[in-house]
Amino acid sequence: MYCPFCSYEETKVLESRLLETSMRRRRECLKCKNRFTTYEQAYFQLRVIKKDGREETFDLQKVTRSMEKALGKVDSEVLIPLSQKVYQKILNKKKNHVKSTLIGKFVLNELKKVDKIAYLRFASIHKAIDDPKVLEKEINRLT
Ligand SMILES: [Zn+2]
Repeated sequence: MYCPFCSYEETKVLESRLLETSMRRRRECLKCKNRFTTYEQAYFQLRVIKKDGREETFDLQKVTRSMEKALGKVDSEVLIPLSQKVYQKILNKKKNHVKSTLIGKFVLNELKKVDKIAYLRFASIHKAIDDPKVLEKEINRLT
């Protein structure tokens, strides 16, 4: 990108840091010597189709927050890999749209592995388990 300070097109990378979902680079403009940070991130144009047929732009933060809500107090070291797994499953469908019910299923799969209570909490908040018999079975399994 152009230097935000002087519009010169060449910068020197001082430092690169690999993050969970992005690459952070510290840059210095070769002309004015000002420094700034850039982030490089994979971009996907992904739409979510909700139960009522409405569409919205996919938002990983939203998925992460809904998982956090179900898990309660949780470290981001636990939470982020879980939502990343869900994201990977969605991306590997290789479609530009995904049904919210499918996202719900992916989330349930991940929650089930780490916390059964969170799994049930998520299922009841989002009505992610349609069949009441399945839900009952899951509750019985816990008690
Ligand atoms: Zn510059």
